[in-house]
This record gives sequence, structure tokens and C-alpha cells, in this order.
Amino acid sequence: MNFKLNYKQYTDYINVTSGIFYPAKNFVNQREFNTILYDQTLNKKFFPLPIFFGLKKKQYENIKNKRNLTLKYKSQNVAKVSNLKFYEIDKNLFGKKVFGNNFKKHHYFKIFDKENYKFLSFKISKKYSFKHLPKYFIDPKVFKKKIKKLKFLPGFHTRNVPHNAHLWIHKLLHKRYGGLLIQPLIGQYKVGEYKDRFIMKSNIKASKLLRSDAVFCLPFFSYPRYGGPLEASLHAIVRRNYGCSHFWVGRDHAGYKNFFSKYESQKFCKSLEKKIGIKIISEKEPFYCRIQKIVTNKCKSAKCNKKKLMISGSKIRNLIKKNKKIPSYLMIEDISKLINSKSLIY
Ligand SMILES: [Zn+2]
Repeated sequence: MNFKLNYKQYTDYINVTSGIFYPAKNFVNQREFNTILYDQTLNKKFFPLPIFFGLKKKQYENIKNKRNLTLKYKSQNVAKVSNLKFYEIDKNLFGKKVFGNNFKKHHYFKIFDKENYKFLSFKISKKYSFKHLPKYFIDPKVFKKKIKKLKFLPGFHTRNVPHNAHLWIHKLLHKRYGGLLIQPLIGQYKVGEYKDRFIMKSNIKASKLLRSDAVFCLPFFSYPRYGGPLEASLHAIVRRNYGCSHFWVGRDHAGYKNFFSKYESQKFCKSLEKKIGIKIISEKEPFYCRIQKIVTNKCKSAKCNKKKLMISGSKIRNLIKKNKKIPSYLMIEDISKLINSKSLIY
């Protein structure tokens, strides 16, 4: 019987089967789901979030008596799976561990609750070659060969068209480590955010500004989980698996509204850098200082606080929506000329 994968299931499948989510090699079974929630481990290695295969009620009813499935995405064969096992988990426990005590109010917990009536684990008995991959996608094994000679490679995660605070971070990382992997998350479909192709195009442009063959821009084909610290550590794992030596964790990395505190993701990842196997760079966020007239993350002037201008993506998106010019202290023209109000999802 055929089973149509949705976008999330398809990208998770790619990430578990290509080593991008290693040590995860398949969707979790019931035991692994719980071990990850309680101990943050999978096969005795650190792993923060269960990569699960969820079913809606109707889907479950359709396949509950089947022994094998052919997974499909956009009418192409993806895999044959056997040994199907349906299971349930304590969804509130998942919510609490991932989104915190206030989880019931978290929008993405509500979606999780609604989308997952049952969970399914299986053995992958046949893999077909990937037919749908984003432009510029590279398998980590291939990428690691390309960067073999580099001593260090810091990774930078983004879901944005790069503004001046991002460029400041790129420069800092490149200067300090001699290389850089800018890896935008491709596959977010939230109203008001950028379309994938503009995120990719503008980040490629930003990578070229550094004029170095040790600077790369690749997509991370996935979706935002809004899971704060745990998700930030998954992002670090992805970059380790791509061969990065360091990973920049943002001020509110993978955050959502005020569910996580400022710098919580940084602290969490920093405390785990040995277990993850990648150095975590945790710095204060850069801003525009009107006294020094530069982007920086430190300023000695006592007057600075009042003169500080925050550089935020939402500020820029609001200007774009209104077809207003983006001031150059927020975004350089090389980048801003690549986007307009049509670059956003409505
Ligand atoms: Zn200042």
C-alpha cells in the first residue's frame, strides 16, 4: 500500500537516512522516543529531540492492518518499509520537555497534538534515490570531502535574509576561523516570512561578500520546530555532521515568543559541547551603535544604551511589506536589492 509523506516527514526521512541527524538513522520507536525525552540520548549518544513518524487518525485507520508500505513524496517512490509498529506516547510529557511548563499554550504544541494521533516505527527495507531535493543540497559525506583540508569550519544557522547583524557574525567567524558555512533552514511556510528561494539567493550573495573559497552556503532542508534549547542543540548536531568544528548559537535560537529565556539556548548548548562534539560560540547579539556608527556587540560608552539600534529581521520585513526603503544601517544594498514585498509568504 502507498503512503503519502507530508513535507515534514519527507525532510526528516532525508535527514535521518543521509547522516544529517546522526546518530538517528530512522524514525524513533516507542522506546527510543521515551529515552530521548528522559535522557536526551539515542544509542548511548546525545540526541535532544525524537524524530518521530506521526499519523493522523484517518491515516492510522487506513494502514493499521498493513504489514508493508511504500512511502511516496509527490508521487515518487521514497522507500519501502516493513515491520510496522504503531504506538502512543505521553504527549504532555513531550510538550513539557520540549516547550517548557507553559507548553499547552505553545502554538506548535497544539499542532503536534493535532497532527499525531498515533506514532509509527518501521524498518526501512528499500531506499530509492532522492527525487526532490532543494537546489544546492549536498550530502554531508560529499561535503566533508570538500572541506577536508580546512583546520576549522564554523557553522551559522539562519532562517532569514541576512541583515547587518548577520553579516557582522559572518565576518567575525570567518576572521577568527578562516572559513564559514552559512546554512539556511529551507522549508518554512509561515505567513510573513521569506520564501525559500530569496533566503538562499541572499545568503549565497552574503557568502560571496567574504571572497574566500573556504566560505560555503548550503541549505538545511527541514522545518522550524520552535523548540528553543533542544532544537538549538539539534542544529549543532547537524553542523557537526556536516563537518563543522564550531557552531554559532543565537540569542534566542529556535525560540518562540517568550517560551524560553534570553540566551537559554546558548547556555544549554555550551554546557553540552563535549557531548555533542562541536565547539559552541556563544556571544552577545550585535546591534548598531549610533555613537561609533558601526555594528558591534560591545560598547564602552555610557550613553550607548539610549543610542543603540536593534537590528531585527521583523523590523525589516515590516518595511518590505509597506514597500519602504530599508535603511543601510539594517541591511546593505547588495542584499536589500535582492528582495521586495513579493519575497514574503502571504
Ligand atoms: Zn555604543
